[in-house]
Amino acid sequence: MRRSQLFTKTSKTFPADETSKNAQLLIKAGFIHKEMAGVYAYLPLGLMVIENIKRIIREEMNSLGGQELIMTNLQSRELWEKTDRWDDKKVDIWFKTKLKNDSEVGLAWSHEEPITEMMKSFIASYRDLPIYVYQFQTKLRNELRAKSGIMRSREFVMKDLYTYSKTEEDHNKIYDQAKKAYMNVFNKVGLGDKTYLTYASGGSFTQFSHEFQTITGAGEDTVFVDMQKKLAVNKEVLSDEVLKQLGLQKGDLEEMKASEVGNIFSFGDAKSKQLGLVYTTADGQEKPVVLGSYGIGVTRLMGVIAEVFADERGLVWPEAVAPAQVYLAAIGEDAKVKDKADELYNLLTEKGIGVIYDDRDERAGEKFADADLMGIPQRIVVSDKTLAADKFELKSRTSKDTQQLDKENLIKKLEIISN
Ligand code: ATP
Ligand code: MG
Repeated sequence: MRRSQLFTKTSKTFPADETSKNAQLLIKAGFIHKEMAGVYAYLPLGLMVIENIKRIIREEMNSLGGQELIMTNLQSRELWEKTDRWDDKKVDIWFKTKLKNDSEVGLAWSHEEPITEMMKSFIASYRDLPIYVYQFQTKLRNELRAKSGIMRSREFVMKDLYTYSKTEEDHNKIYDQAKKAYMNVFNKVGLGDKTYLTYASGGSFTQFSHEFQTITGAGEDTVFVDMQKKLAVNKEVLSDEVLKQLGLQKGDLEEMKASEVGNIFSFGDAKSKQLGLVYTTADGQEKPVVLGSYGIGVTRLMGVIAEVFADERGLVWPEAVAPAQVYLAAIGEDAKVKDKADELYNLLTEKGIGVIYDDRDERAGEKFADADLMGIPQRIVVSDKTLAADKFELKSRTSKDTQQLDKENLIKKLEIISN
């Protein structure tokens, strides 16, 4: 992608009411646009990060046997009444609206009810199970506070997986596999050493649910971490009894701020009973299907990555989610510089290495500041100086040192890095 053709610009400012670091940086770098409090648009560079995160999640969901679909944003009031989750007193973040005929509909904040209802069309016998389905979908939630940038917004992208199993035993197996798949996701996006499997409140069916909490001062949750065991307990369930039950010692725990990037739940057969999702066993009995629900906040995860890795110069994207691997800066007016940079841009693009090519007539300082602010992992400079030595200058976002490399070695190096 050529900077001269990218409509977004970097900026030194951000909206006065924007207090979160992730949104301030993402706005300055041209990744997102603030529509209103807690509502953000994702611009081309931001969308590339989202798509990279989605690709990583999709790989893991597919290897669990998940099948991708997209449910609707408009939801039936009657359906959510059946499970007693329509009332604002029960679910306090609903957005609701009316059809022309005055009947009420809800705007999707989650999808357990509609997916379970839909499965009645597809599940009849034990032969139809298990079924695992997932989606990337825009969720709408009327959050009371939205002060954490894209880490808590009123409109956000969630990946939600729903598992339908024959028995509790089968459910527990896929639940454990999902736990591992989630950890794989957080490892792959670069947050593995900061993200902890966390015991949290379970809701109706089980004593605990499991959250994935990433340690960051920007997080809204408080967790107690056992670094050795790589486990944490959410403050909301912490008690002497719970610690004893989990085999954890108070003295081993460290209190930390964290952000919930994922959450997995067992619903048991409660929802299937409420909605009438049953199957026939091999010996002809009728049984309710066992449900699990598993969320990852895709855009929250992007915000957490931005928060955790940023430095005083701007964003710092891990390779796996960066919008491009290379920021290519052509410095100077010289036509030979432009030609050389064009040639390298084409070559890298051919090799499948993502490049943001700064082909604008801007000063070197401006281009370097943008490369840093945007957080692109590698920067390559083509200038009179590098041309004279028949080399390219390579520098990584996180180191001070530059390297002078000829074309062959440059490509080799980049191919290693981006694999
Ligand atoms: P929280 O306690 O932070 O409000 P939640 O328990 O309401 O989260 P879930 O309903 O389990 O969250 O949603 C699944 C995932 O979606 C969460 O783990 C989180 O990563 C993400 N998420 C939830 N609410 C928001 C939001 N308002 N903005 C962005 N991401 C969110
Ligand atoms: Mg919430």
